[in-house]
Amino acid sequence: MSVVIESLERPTRLKRPTLSVDSLLVVGFALVALGANLPFWHAALAPRDLGQPSTWRFALLLPVMLVALHVLLFAPFATRRTVRPLLSFAVIASTLAGYFIHAYGVVLDPTMLRNVLDTDAREASEFLTPGFAAALGLGVALAALPWLACVKPQAWRRALLMRSVTLGVALLAGTGALLLAFQDLGSLMRNDRSLRYLITPANVVWSLGAALAGDAHVAAAASDPVEPAMRMRTAGGASKPLLFVMVVGETARAANFSLNGYARKTNPELERLDIVYFKDVAACGTSTEVSLPCMFSPYGRTEYDEQRIRRHESLLHLLARAGVDVVWLDNQSGCKGVCRGLDTRDLSHEKLPALCSEDRCLDEVMLHGLADVAARAQRDTVVVMHQLGNHGPAYFRRYPPDLRRFVPACESQDLRSCSREEIVNAYDNAILYTDRFLARTISALGALESRFEVALVYVSDHGESLGENGLYLHGVPYLIAPREQKEVPMLWWFGEGSARALDVDLPCLQGRAQVAASHDNLFHSTLGLLSVTTPSYKAARDLFGGCRGGALVSLPQPARH
Ligand SMILES: [Zn+2]
Repeated sequence: MSVVIESLERPTRLKRPTLSVDSLLVVGFALVALGANLPFWHAALAPRDLGQPSTWRFALLLPVMLVALHVLLFAPFATRRTVRPLLSFAVIASTLAGYFIHAYGVVLDPTMLRNVLDTDAREASEFLTPGFAAALGLGVALAALPWLACVKPQAWRRALLMRSVTLGVALLAGTGALLLAFQDLGSLMRNDRSLRYLITPANVVWSLGAALAGDAHVAAAASDPVEPAMRMRTAGGASKPLLFVMVVGETARAANFSLNGYARKTNPELERLDIVYFKDVAACGTSTEVSLPCMFSPYGRTEYDEQRIRRHESLLHLLARAGVDVVWLDNQSGCKGVCRGLDTRDLSHEKLPALCSEDRCLDEVMLHGLADVAARAQRDTVVVMHQLGNHGPAYFRRYPPDLRRFVPACESQDLRSCSREEIVNAYDNAILYTDRFLARTISALGALESRFEVALVYVSDHGESLGENGLYLHGVPYLIAPREQKEVPMLWWFGEGSARALDVDLPCLQGRAQVAASHDNLFHSTLGLLSVTTPSYKAARDLFGGCRGGALVSLPQPARH
């Protein structure tokens, strides 16, 4: 029956090329691999002398490898029915991947794809620029091309034979080209390990698969056994309950904090306060998805293991088990598992006209949340405030109009449409707002000192590239990330009398702040500050370790948690 239908349809398809599944697959992926990889060609060939025969040889071997790689990757899924949708998907994925690589200098590795999977609709909408629309339009238009071809029906035996030949040839050609180009490729990869993530659409497929496999692995693995956590107290101890605020900053880089020596006054309010600013702090990751779980884990960058970090309880779970009330206030896209099962309040959808627009609130919305928590708090409480901070690319949406001090500021989310100066101006205005937000949080805590011992730590999750070396945003793999993405601001503040009550020697801490620190210190320092003992605590990573005098005494264990 199908033969009859085919023969009846044939006259209408006379002018369309008719190809077998494998021919279409090879031709299609040859065009995609060769046409959609300009950033890769540029990175691979630009450092070489184009007049040298060895460069020509390399330039001929690379396309063979790329085509073979994509044929091997996609052939197992190609049938007469799926080959055209597969090619269309590859074309659209390649076009969009190329756009993001070109526009922001991002690397599409598994961590970046994890970020993409965790992005909510509001974050995603900030990437909907005219450039993105143009790339999508081009991708959709090109994705129609495979549909101009007719796919020749084949008996299954012949189809199997053809597929075996296709895979065999791809494997041989790819391996042969790889061996011949091995030396050149090896030195290229050593210089730039992220180069392989420029190969599109293999980068999208591979990284997406790796991100999903990582999730499945964590979901299937049993969580680590819970640790005992016990609250102690310094001898003499605090007479009032503690209200400790941990502000998790977003995308604030140390280089643009005047507290860190930046020439512009971006911290006018904090500079007037009695704070301890750490001058050299390394983030654990270059993205929220990496940094957030890492900074609340006992392992940090020193013992970094994503799976282990995600299996282990966070600092907040240990604090809660030790009898501390823990509340996570969020003005961003959630806590990435750090606050799972704890009191979590999403304030990003509040309806406060002075602070909130249609889809976003300024960070001061969390001051309302803090006041609410403080009004009910009866015992030691840790409040985490997860800022929207300097979340890009729409920096200009991260501050109120009166902080539009550095002008002209980029007022487009399409960073390529702005000058470097305009981008930095908008970014710095957003830092000004974090300065104000932190100063107002400290002021709010100061007003609560009659009821609580109060303290605050602020640390950003990662930095940001603002056009240095053609890079924008963040998320470059840690080992090759520029310092702008890894160096973050961190500061501590203690209420009057609270440092004494918590047994912190402030001049000593000021001294400690002059030498290097990192996200790795946060877990252990917070446990140390709150006198919580637990097996994973490491005194060597406790910033207060050498700045505390009193001995600890046991507190009775609370009934809750
Ligand atoms: Zn972040």
